[in-house]
Amino acid sequence: MTNLNSEQLMEMEHKYGAHNYHPLEVVISKAEGIWVEDPEGKKYMDMLSAYSAVNQGHRHPAIIKALKNQADELTLTSRAFFNDKWPLFAKKLAELTEKDMILPMNTGAEAVETAIKTMRKWGYLEKGIETDKAEIIVFEENFHGRTTTVVSFSTDPVAKDNYGPFTPGFKIVPYNDLEAVKNAITENTAGILVEPIQGEAGVVVPADGYLKGLSDISKENNILLAVDEIQTGFARTGKMFAFMYDNIDPDIIIMGKALGGGVFPVSAVAANNDILGVFKPGSHGSTFGGNPLGCAVAIASIEVLLDENLAAKSFELGKYFREQLIAMNSDKIDIVRGKGLLIGIVLKESAGKARIYTTKLKEKGLLCKETHDWIIRFAPPLVITKEEIDQAMESIREVLG
Ligand SMILES: *Cc1c(COP(=O)(O)O)cnc(C)c1O
Repeated sequence: MTNLNSEQLMEMEHKYGAHNYHPLEVVISKAEGIWVEDPEGKKYMDMLSAYSAVNQGHRHPAIIKALKNQADELTLTSRAFFNDKWPLFAKKLAELTEKDMILPMNTGAEAVETAIKTMRKWGYLEKGIETDKAEIIVFEENFHGRTTTVVSFSTDPVAKDNYGPFTPGFKIVPYNDLEAVKNAITENTAGILVEPIQGEAGVVVPADGYLKGLSDISKENNILLAVDEIQTGFARTGKMFAFMYDNIDPDIIIMGKALGGGVFPVSAVAANNDILGVFKPGSHGSTFGGNPLGCAVAIASIEVLLDENLAAKSFELGKYFREQLIAMNSDKIDIVRGKGLLIGIVLKESAGKARIYTTKLKEKGLLCKETHDWIIRFAPPLVITKEEIDQAMESIREVLG
């Protein structure tokens, strides 16, 4: 097994693995920090961070230590019993998010589903919406995961086509348009589900104050605001959570990806008692949600972010990185956008497809991924240094300059 080369491994995956991805042609067999390595020993700088799940860097020693120690003690109990790690994780994340309570799940999509269930149940029990009439406002070009309910309100045909019949109860409005939200509200509106920055759509950053506007609208109309911080959270955008740029207090915070420190899937929803209190025993759950192994990893993952001040680092280095990209003055680039180390480069139509450039960058030892055909996303692990950004810029200049 271990002697297979990249070519053989890619062939094997193509033969036995379903083709629901179109990976760049690189096989990764080792990683540390911001660096990954293929079976032939070639090193690459990771500029994707597993879609921002590896904010703390690959195999962060403190996180791996937590994983190993916990693996030696206890891994899974289910929530039929208490365990000695879930309460610690719940407390830690409640304190970080400044919310009363946490509901733990595993993947991002499950946390989004949890938020949807929360908003609906709250709508019926607390707001008094008529049974089965609850509506949730969502946004064009959204990405919230892959379950049938979540793709029901996707506007991306590739993600949605042929998966119907779809779950009703969602109103789709344009992103970054507060009037559209106001106009979509009815007496049946239970909540708004929004990405503070639309990551998969191509790092689409709304106007300053947009989230504040959504928060005000929510309060005025007695509806819940749920922010999907799965990709933007945990220091990625230069704050612990992206909603902090607008100084708001969203009703529901949805988290995933880097909460698991790049080693284990951990997701969660945070909210206050009056909201998460809608769940009673048996009304929602997950066999692995709140498992001790994941909780130990998540606690360490949060501690690394705080101890290493990764939000401030992401803010500073992201600013620097974007400045360097803009200063290239490339005739291939339309705009550079983003916050912190979540950066999108929108190519001009004349430049051709983004895949051409991500392939060339890979050949130069820099791994990143296109989103849509014309946008390149740079999202390195937040432990990257200024010198390493300079090093990356050399390759980027050669390919895009
Ligand atoms: C990745 C992502 C999800 C889905 O997370 P999974 O762990 O892949 O289910 C949901 N929302 C956003 C904003 C994401 O970036």
